Amino acid sequence: MCYDLIVIGGGPAGLASAYEAKKQGVEKILIIERDKELGGILNQCIHNGFGLHTFKEELTGPEYAERFIDMINATDIEVKLDTMVLEIDNEKNVHVVNTIDGYMILKAKSIILSMGCRERTRGAIAIPGDRPSGVLTAGAAQRYINMEGYMPGKEVLILGSGDIGLIMARRMTLEGAKVKGVIELMPYSNGLNRNIVQCLNDYNIPLYLSHTVTDIIGRDRLEKVIIAKVDKKGKIIKGTEIEFDVDTLLLSVGLIPENELSTKAGIDKDIRTNGLIVSESMETSIRGVFACGNVLHVHDLVDFVTEEAKRAGRSVAKYLRNELDYSNYLHVKNGKSIKYVIPQKINIQAIEDNLTMLMRVDNIYHNKKIVVKCDKTAIAQFNRKHLAPSEMEKVIISKSIIEKVKGDLVVSLEDGE
Ligand SMILES: Cc1cc2nc3c(=O)[nH]c(=O)nc-3n(C[C@H](O)[C@H](O)[C@H](O)COP(=O)(O)OP(=O)(O)OC[C@H]3O[C@@H](n4cnc5c(N)ncnc54)[C@H](O)[C@@H]3O)c2cc1C
Repeated sequence: MCYDLIVIGGGPAGLASAYEAKKQGVEKILIIERDKELGGILNQCIHNGFGLHTFKEELTGPEYAERFIDMINATDIEVKLDTMVLEIDNEKNVHVVNTIDGYMILKAKSIILSMGCRERTRGAIAIPGDRPSGVLTAGAAQRYINMEGYMPGKEVLILGSGDIGLIMARRMTLEGAKVKGVIELMPYSNGLNRNIVQCLNDYNIPLYLSHTVTDIIGRDRLEKVIIAKVDKKGKIIKGTEIEFDVDTLLLSVGLIPENELSTKAGIDKDIRTNGLIVSESMETSIRGVFACGNVLHVHDLVDFVTEEAKRAGRSVAKYLRNELDYSNYLHVKNGKSIKYVIPQKINIQAIEDNLTMLMRVDNIYHNKKIVVKCDKTAIAQFNRKHLAPSEMEKVIISKSIIEKVKGDLVVSLEDGE
């Protein structure tokens, strides 16, 4: 069985990329999803706030997913659910397994990687203390409450102020739990500003910035969590400990792109994002293998995932028609105060009308400008009143400007006017 395109992962990235590829004329498409339904993480995100850019409406996660699932169902795109992709070999064979078909090898002319990301666990951040029940990731708690109807605890502390942690602080409160605080190692929150207001301030949930968990106490079930202040280098300041009587500790300490398949396939990774290196066409270091969504870098808005995924879908169509140009690559580097930039390499001929760059800064800044330079000459600059590591920055440069560029690009932050 040979497909023109196999999409691995049926979350928002996989759905939008498959649909766009179909719209662009790609014929035989298969989406493979390990879960029992399409939609990815959106299925457990029942709060609203999704789709403002894509649909100009405020939808819940499942509603946003459903729009795309309906669009996919109206096409002849094939879907295999409850099916795990185990390997992609160097002939673009996709090795999969499920309980109905068993082990299968499916051939693909092109592949889109859209496997999303997973949460970092207690082991990844090595919190000392006992090992009682009641310590779980915020995403696992979200799934228990929103999809399976279980309440994981009554008195709660949350470590990590990223969006999932903030949203779970509100969710647990609405379900009747007492959330005693959100603890954040950094001196600033890692979540969107609107989530701090709507999920913490509106419910009087305290945010402990520059604090971390120093001990977990409990025999069978969690009984106490000790937190302490940290200095600028993240070192614990003795004597600042605070004790909380809680039965639940939710960890919201970061997401890791799910790239075991990509690594095994020999695709180049970017150590800054834990994701993959891609071109302006969302193509990875292996021709015909594209990537989009959280597998590439962690996004804060699903609308950006969809936009990126559509670009991957359009690029697959061009690749299959032999229209992708590989003649003239330049690299994009991150300069002062910028943590990473996507895409990491650009083929000028292959840019659509504009080049979209996504990036994150390394700290909180005010009144700065994002400057894109080639050989020390600024080719584009964008003023920003406020920048934070938690908020992904997007800049758009027209193709006519990039066409004049003769060398690699460096993106950095400079003082604004
Ligand atoms: C726990 C968690 C909670 C989140 N909560 C929010 C929130 O409340 N609000 C918000 O705006 N954003 C939230 N996000 C971010 C949100 O996930 C992204 O905006 C968006 O879902 C990313 O889309 P994606 O398609 O890249 O990944 P996902 O939605 O993660 O989809 C990836 C899909 O790939 C499948 N997959 C992975 N590996 C394989 C394999 N080997 N074989 C077959 N299938 C595979 C997975 O089962 C999954 O369905 C959350 C993320 C996580 C991890």
